[in-house]
Amino acid sequence: MKAIVYTAPEQFAVQDVPIPSIGPRQVLVRVRRCGICKTDLHIHHGRFISQFPLTPGHEFCGDIVDVGAEVTEWKIGDRVTCDNTVLCGYCFYCRRNQPLYCQNFYSLGCTGPGGLAEYVAVNADKAFPLADHVSYDQAAFTEPLACIVHGIDRLDPCCGDKVLIFGAGPAGNLLAQILKHCGAALVVVVASTRWKLDLLNRLGIEHTVLMDRDDYARHTNTVKRLAPEGYDIVIDATGYAPMIEHAFQFTKMGSKVLVYGVCNEEDTITVNPYWMFRNEITLFGSFAQTHCFDRALSYIERGMVQVEPLITHRLSLAEYGRALELLAEGKHNLKIMIHPTD
Ligand SMILES: [Zn+2]
Ligand SMILES: [Zn+2]
Repeated sequence: MKAIVYTAPEQFAVQDVPIPSIGPRQVLVRVRRCGICKTDLHIHHGRFISQFPLTPGHEFCGDIVDVGAEVTEWKIGDRVTCDNTVLCGYCFYCRRNQPLYCQNFYSLGCTGPGGLAEYVAVNADKAFPLADHVSYDQAAFTEPLACIVHGIDRLDPCCGDKVLIFGAGPAGNLLAQILKHCGAALVVVVASTRWKLDLLNRLGIEHTVLMDRDDYARHTNTVKRLAPEGYDIVIDATGYAPMIEHAFQFTKMGSKVLVYGVCNEEDTITVNPYWMFRNEITLFGSFAQTHCFDRALSYIERGMVQVEPLITHRLSLAEYGRALELLAEGKHNLKIMIHPTD
């Protein structure tokens, strides 16, 4: 089969490799779509939790074409979306019912072979069935949406909260869409790309503010006017560390600040501890997801979160280099969908 194979960071090619053999409790999935995101760019540079050699691709769906000897719940031809996480079940955190913190955290597309290939082997308990009306395009969004669901679990928003999101990429967009269903009274998205904000407006997010990267005062005034007391929840979905510091000024007493975007490992921010103390600020992160797939899929199945309008590019495995260039440039794309088998 054809697959993207990295031998080391930044060293990849489309190679012919054997179709993965499956264990007794695994299924073989023919990949129909694999979305890519900024995480794949971090992996390309050897950052995040990447391990090499590697076939990336952590946002995939497709058709079951083979089932292991002990698999009774799936049959050949079933359409599925796949949770890429594999938890050990026996480490300190797994046995504390905190599987996302698994000390042996294994992730298809990050530490093990993922979906940027014609076929991928998946544990049977990590496949989720697709309703007939759910397209492969939609299903490929289950993983990024599941990560958002986990982020919202962490946030634990309250009814009537005012929410401010920096960034209108796929993460900022999906966060805004879901938060509207989680009781937020006001969702404001700030970003520097007009067309991404226009899309949010079309998807029902009323309040968007264009950021002028050379003159922060312009958006700052508008954003403060929309919630003069400050925002209950402030989210960074840019992964740009200075933006997190900038975002602090839009908080109020008791605010929660969520670091959602993936910054570089060496980035630092400055936080005033007296400000945190005096205002009871909660600052926290959200990393990946596990056990959030079924809820993410419900949003997609029921049309409550619209994902297809986010697709801006469709590329083949052979065009992966171009896909990475687009990701790095960022201004002219949202979701880049790779079609490994057509
Ligand atoms: Zn992703
Ligand atoms: Zn574990």
